[in-house]
Amino acid sequence: MRMVISGKTEVFAVIGDPIEHTLSPTMHNAAFEHLKLGFVFVAFRVTPDELESAVRGACALGIRGLNVTMPHKNSVTEFLDEADPAVKFLKAANTILNQRGRLRGFNTDGVGALKALKNNGVNLTGKKVLLLGAGGAAKAIAFSLAKEVDELSILNRDIVKARELASVLEPFGKKIVGSELLPRKIQQELQNSDVLINATSVGMSPNASESLIESDWLKPEISVMDAVYNPVETRLIRIARGAGAKVINGVEMLLYQGAASFEIWTQCKAPVEVMRNALLSKLSSAGAAV
Ligand code: NAD
Repeated sequence: MRMVISGKTEVFAVIGDPIEHTLSPTMHNAAFEHLKLGFVFVAFRVTPDELESAVRGACALGIRGLNVTMPHKNSVTEFLDEADPAVKFLKAANTILNQRGRLRGFNTDGVGALKALKNNGVNLTGKKVLLLGAGGAAKAIAFSLAKEVDELSILNRDIVKARELASVLEPFGKKIVGSELLPRKIQQELQNSDVLINATSVGMSPNASESLIESDWLKPEISVMDAVYNPVETRLIRIARGAGAKVINGVEMLLYQGAASFEIWTQCKAPVEVMRNALLSKLSSAGAAV
């Protein structure tokens, strides 16, 4: 049945620049429709110099929830009245709840990654995780993982960023080390890692033939998650599957960060199956090789 927009319809939105390829409306409208909430989710292109007016305007219009994507995740924190611990640590928010004009900021990227791992059967207790990258996604993942795992090794092209991230995370975890991302170092770290997470943009379309991992570096006991979700089946995911490893694609992380935002906004349990199917069908119709 087609959704009826009325004077009572509540509006949610994602803001970013560019925004035309966002998958958030697909995922959230499918969930809203499934639960018959009478809500609608739209996307707005907002340039950096219009960010403040857009946030104030969203507030004035009573837009109940916002997702915030690149390039605004950091700068939007200036306009929040309240911030959750992840936002305070990361200085970046991807979710805003408008509570009668009071803007509460959340960052669900790390929680999304954690849930994607756990809900796909990856046990993190007592484990060593090898994390590739120290950008926005990697930081959010590292913040959520630090308190869950025994050891976290962060490798990044820019070693200063890897070390900085490891050092600010030290109070939250047991053993956290930052080093330079080099093929030899990856191979060495993989020997005693239980989980590998790619949080770099390597392998992302249009460079889908790239991977930081070679096919003979992985053992079947390892679990491999890629944050890259376009294509769904990255080269890394294919290599890991070929090695007999457990694999978790970037759509799972995208899905669970979205589910966490959905639950913050609606206080309803997110219908994750419906949201996953909506994401996968949109990605496959967009040619993202599911
Ligand atoms: P970012 O620009 O903040 O960070 C990019 C990272 O990739 C940096 O650590 C950089 O050093 C590294 N990198 C880039 N090219 C590299 C190369 N050739 N060799 C080694 N390292 C390289 O970006 P981000 O926001 O952290 O996003 C990273 C990836 O994660 C993107 O593909 C993005 O789409 C994806 N992502 C997925 C989700 C999800 O929900 N699945 C959420 C956020 C980001």
